[in-house]
Amino acid sequence: MNSFVFESSHPEDTGELASRLAGLLFPGAVLTLEGDLGAGKTTFTKGLAKGLGIKRNVNSPTFTIIKEYSGGKLPLYHMDVYRLGDQEEDLGFEEYFEGEGITVVEWAHLIKDQLPEERLDIEIVHIENDRRQITFSAKGESYLKLCKELFKNESNSA
Ligand code: ADP
Ligand code: MG
Repeated sequence: MNSFVFESSHPEDTGELASRLAGLLFPGAVLTLEGDLGAGKTTFTKGLAKGLGIKRNVNSPTFTIIKEYSGGKLPLYHMDVYRLGDQEEDLGFEEYFEGEGITVVEWAHLIKDQLPEERLDIEIVHIENDRRQITFSAKGESYLKLCKELFKNESNSA
């Protein structure tokens, strides 16, 4: 009931969906991104940045766990916690979650105990070639409302 499934057949589809989502986000929104390496988590984040009006190129923060992008309608905090492994290190994530900006966390399960209860979980599954299945799971009313708006013209709630 709180899940919405989107089929992407191109990197551009994924980017466009993320850009549309960006237009609906509210200050302080938290998004998690799960999926294997190469699934499209960073591609999604790039689309999100574009939708927020951020001009700088977003890339995978290999050595930096948190990158901040300003210049858009809201700041974007891009986290890739892959490198943390299972240590659940606390790098002051909460300050970002509670901040004005949009937080996107790749590999969020690695810091699951530190995530806010209300958030939008996004899972990307590689189907074949350029096809991806993207599932949105809303945790909390405001995210549910947002998903309903994002998918209002499609019949893909699960
Ligand atoms: P991750 O951050 O999950 O490791 P990336 O976004 O860095 O993944 O890489 C995904 C790769 O897959 C990119 O090279 C992208 O162009 C490609 N790709 C192919 N089809 C899609 C699709 N439908 N959605 C997203 N990425 C796709
Ligand atoms: Mg990535």
